[in-house]
Amino acid sequence: MSDIIVVCPRCGGTAVVRPQTDPTTALPWFCPRNLSCLACAYSATWQPEGSSSCWGGPFDPYFRRPLWLQASCCGGKTLWAFNREHLELIDGYVRARLRERGPERPYTSLLEKLPAWIKSAKHRDEITRTIQRLRATLPSEVGERRMPR
Ligand SMILES: [Zn+2]
Repeated sequence: MSDIIVVCPRCGGTAVVRPQTDPTTALPWFCPRNLSCLACAYSATWQPEGSSSCWGGPFDPYFRRPLWLQASCCGGKTLWAFNREHLELIDGYVRARLRERGPERPYTSLLEKLPAWIKSAKHRDEITRTIQRLRATLPSEVGERRMPR
């Protein structure tokens, strides 16, 4: 799990939540996180001590900001993704199920946790359209992994 794209609490643009330390050298779940906005320079820090992360909804698990990538579809459901990679994973999953029947391919645990309505065949056209719509809202400079200056 890398960057999470959220709605900036100050300007309503795209802000990014990312680990402060290198996720390859520390336990990624337990390192501090920064929330930073490229548009208005808003910045906040989340500390693992004394605060818990909360997973499983259309908000980031640390700052509880609404995710940028979310849209209602399939009759009141909310399709959401943490970032561009997550969105592409869901897209790939839904498209693969368009083509293939038979044994499940080895997907990541992130995809195993997808709700049943996303996995439902009757929703896949609408989900594919919703993903295209969400992808179009991503500014090109957000969600790409960049080296620190
Ligand atoms: Zn902002």
